[in-house]
Amino acid sequence: MAYECSGGSNTDLVECLATKGLITSGRVKEAMLSVDRGHYSPTGPYEDRPQSIGHKATISAPHMHASACESLLGYLTPGAKVLDIGSGSGYLTHVLAELVKPDGVVIGVDHIQPLVDLARENMAKSPEGREMLESGAVKFVKADGRKGCPDEGPYDAIHVGAAAADHQEKLEQQLKAPGRMFIPVEKGYMQHIWIVDKDEEGKMKYTKDIGVQYVPLTDAPQY
Ligand code: SAH
Repeated sequence: MAYECSGGSNTDLVECLATKGLITSGRVKEAMLSVDRGHYSPTGPYEDRPQSIGHKATISAPHMHASACESLLGYLTPGAKVLDIGSGSGYLTHVLAELVKPDGVVIGVDHIQPLVDLARENMAKSPEGREMLESGAVKFVKADGRKGCPDEGPYDAIHVGAAAADHQEKLEQQLKAPGRMFIPVEKGYMQHIWIVDKDEEGKMKYTKDIGVQYVPLTDAPQY
């Protein structure tokens, strides 16, 4: 994927992504316009590329955040429950929370405590983000995301922001019927996004999507 968008502001970035067809949904465009990526990315926030946030983690490229939201969009309805595994900077967690307003809840899970703290700090930079933290519309939890967050589930939508070694049965169990998961899976050194659907009867369907490069979903580092 060539990085075609680089703007001087969040609005420039989002408008460029929409012009290039990297955002096609009006709802996703509105949500990304309302969350300033400058609050989440320490460098180059308005460029369409991943940026380091420390701890071997990156904030994903904006076109990947847009793609994840568009894939899950049918399940991102007012009041929906969403799980964001590998929440890192907290940016996507905030955008997802915009998409399930009002009454929706998004749980962001990361296994590195300083990143859990960073996500909260980043969200608290805007009045809307602070309000979401105070009301419980967004919660950040330190945990091994491979186990999900069963206490808060089941979920209409699950986003996984790090590449798993295989499909994650524990996460699939935490999907509602119907529900959808967006997950990068690494097989034979190649990572692809998989769209995992659970239908009303609980039957699973796995659809392989684009090739990607995510940081791996791993054991927590030992400090
Ligand atoms: N969506 C985030 C992506 C951050 S990079 C963003 O755009 O900002 C991937 C994140 O997955 C890292 O923060 C890393 O700490 C986290 N991660 C990796 N393995 C994990 C695991 N087993 N449980 C929870 N988080 C994990």
